[in-house]
Amino acid sequence: MKDYYAILGVDRDASFEEIKKAYRKLALKYHPDRNPSPEAEEKFKEISEAYAVLSDPEKRRRYDSGGFDSMDIDFEDLFGGFGSIFDVFFGGGSKRNYRDRYSPRRGNDLQYTLQITLEESFKGTVKEIEIERYDICEHCQGRGLDANSKVTTCPNCGGRGSVVYQQGFFTMKTTCSRCNGSGTIISNPCKFCGGKGRILRRKRVKIKIPAGVDNGDTLRIQREGEAGINGGDYGDLYVVISIKEDRIFSRKGQDLFLEIPITFSQAALGDKIRIKYFGEEVEINIPPGIQSGDLIEVKGKGFPEVGKDKRGSLFVKAIVKTPKKLSQEMKKLFEQLSELEKKEQPSLWEKLKNVFVKKSV
Ligand SMILES: [Zn+2]
Ligand SMILES: [Zn+2]
Repeated sequence: MKDYYAILGVDRDASFEEIKKAYRKLALKYHPDRNPSPEAEEKFKEISEAYAVLSDPEKRRRYDSGGFDSMDIDFEDLFGGFGSIFDVFFGGGSKRNYRDRYSPRRGNDLQYTLQITLEESFKGTVKEIEIERYDICEHCQGRGLDANSKVTTCPNCGGRGSVVYQQGFFTMKTTCSRCNGSGTIISNPCKFCGGKGRILRRKRVKIKIPAGVDNGDTLRIQREGEAGINGGDYGDLYVVISIKEDRIFSRKGQDLFLEIPITFSQAALGDKIRIKYFGEEVEINIPPGIQSGDLIEVKGKGFPEVGKDKRGSLFVKAIVKTPKKLSQEMKKLFEQLSELEKKEQPSLWEKLKNVFVKKSV
């Protein structure tokens, strides 16, 4: 006799709640929706059987007292149409028919990571990607049948999908092994898809990427996932956006960041410069007296928000570049400037000297 307690991994005095918890945990692991291996299906049947017995006080009492090999378990309940994994949680013990397994099921959703440039995320773009997915077999229109195929009622179960037999005092109902519960027998299944109705195929899909998408944003393309089963609808395709790092620009939220080199005189006197990026042209006002590393904000020139008119800011970081080579004339001018600084900004000069003196002591 099977040890149902060991199968569920609970103690012999486990409460109903403990048994339910153990069953759900195992069911999640071995449910055919999640775990396609045949061993998992066997395991799922086993834990379902254990649960059916131990969750019913009367059956559990009889099981605990021992003395018989089989019980009146409605196997159709147990193995019948696993449906979705959510039934394990929300099913509530409704009687299901094994043939649910042959009812329409929606195809799987697919996920694809698409890399785009910062400029493409700024302007929006259209990309064509190639995905591999299960599609409806066009030779049989997804029915899995050949032109010469015949669908006949299963002679073993008379089309019910299950067979009932007596074992001792108990009536056993089990899935028909001849038709696997479908109630029908198909001769000559479609040779292109082996009767599955679906074929793995590569497909090109055009993806419209809206301006403003950010790293990690996900676009849902309806009905571009896998084909359904038994006439079920297509799943969806989820495209996850990944933005390549840019050498010049960076992005934070809807704001765009850029560093520009400026000269001493531009920093001191201020200037107006024009910059071009991603098809835009913007005038930047460098205020007189700007410090190296200061940010200049240009509102409304950053990234658009997807589907909105609103845009973030462009932040320009001004980096003051010290000239490495000076012409004779420039050198002369810097020397004059230096003399003037000593005269006109003595306080600054004194401070610098003090720092210098202190450091060298
Ligand atoms: Zn086919
Ligand atoms: Zn049958």
